Amino acid sequence: MSNRLEALCMEKGMRMTEQRRVIARVLSQSKDHPDVEELYRRASAIDDKISIATVYRTVRLFEDAGILERHEFRDGRARYERVSEDHHDHLIDLNSGDVIEFRNEDIEKLQEVVARELGYRLVDHRLELYAVKIRDEDR
Ligand SMILES: [Zn+2]
Repeated sequence: MSNRLEALCMEKGMRMTEQRRVIARVLSQSKDHPDVEELYRRASAIDDKISIATVYRTVRLFEDAGILERHEFRDGRARYERVSEDHHDHLIDLNSGDVIEFRNEDIEKLQEVVARELGYRLVDHRLELYAVKIRDEDR
């Protein structure tokens, strides 16, 4: 879907300027987890009148509207991805900075068990694994 984010903005009754539309499109098409500077690079390649301040403001607006999820992966940069219906967790490669998405049913279940044992019903969670790649010779 090329601009699912824009459709969500419209649903929320957000006023969509041309620049917001461009930023929404860039976010919709991003398969990775870009930070504001990267979003700015991609958006200004489409519309060179977009300023980084506009990108900051727009991302904040989308975040407040609950259509964009913010991640802090310990590198001091906030990164963003579209809020999706399908839950996933992240593994962060400490050397390359790559963010890998995964889902593990055993972990999902275990977290519910842990919450229940503490007297809670789990409603949400975030899990981040920080890792370095195993070289073939170390396996
Ligand atoms: Zn993700």
